[in-house]
Amino acid sequence: MKPTSTKVKRKTLSSEIDALIFDLDDTLFDTNGQLVQPATRESVAAMIEMGLKASFDDALAQRAVFFQQAPRLDIQERLVGHFGVQEGSDADAVEEAGRLAFYQRNVESHITLFEGCYDLLALAKTRFQLFLVTSGSPSTQRQKVDLLGIEPFFTDMTFVNSGNGETKKDAFLQLTERHQLNAPRVLVVGDRIDREISAANQLGMWTCQIARGEYRHLKVTSASESADIVCAHVTELIGWLGLNKSKGTAAHRLRQDDKSSTLGGLR
Ligand SMILES: [Mg+2]
Repeated sequence: MKPTSTKVKRKTLSSEIDALIFDLDDTLFDTNGQLVQPATRESVAAMIEMGLKASFDDALAQRAVFFQQAPRLDIQERLVGHFGVQEGSDADAVEEAGRLAFYQRNVESHITLFEGCYDLLALAKTRFQLFLVTSGSPSTQRQKVDLLGIEPFFTDMTFVNSGNGETKKDAFLQLTERHQLNAPRVLVVGDRIDREISAANQLGMWTCQIARGEYRHLKVTSASESADIVCAHVTELIGWLGLNKSKGTAAHRLRQDDKSSTLGGLR
């Protein structure tokens, strides 16, 4: 059972949980480095094309300033408010063009998981049930999962359509019901304190924040945004969950899996 206000004990954590729910972006792979930077440039270009009254370089620089200052605010709306739009252009359409270019794009085929993540997932799968809950545009997220080849690691995956108002909290609840999971024996792993960490804490689940990615500078604004564990890299979970101690066994199982090709194609 998750303690209410005590420090997490590394030694016993693995015996406290049955299942891990992973976020995808900036948790298992470097979305910020591999996808967000190009998407940001395309988004700014699309807004200018639709009538934002700014040069590309100015808009890009201002976008970075706004995001650093207030990552929770709507960045397209702020850019339109700051620069205005060309005569005859529609402000809403300019904002929407920026959003679409940012969120609904084809994913480059060269994306890869963070170093060590395939090993982490393979080791974790030998001890726990693994789930993936990722939000954004479901078709884009699905594309990422396919390109990364990670589906076989997960018992179930949920694609939360954030554009339709769906939430990770609802997705966590549905998963616990569908798979008869006991919320206090679930560990949620993600980078967003205002999304998966907050939702999981509210449901009494264990939480691990991966402090990286474009939202790493978010400040905690409520108790529910404070994670039980904070890691600089998701592979630190190997130590937290004692997976390294069973390395020999896990490696042996992996080799068996390789033979039966369950995981062989993933590495
Ligand atoms: Mg994320």
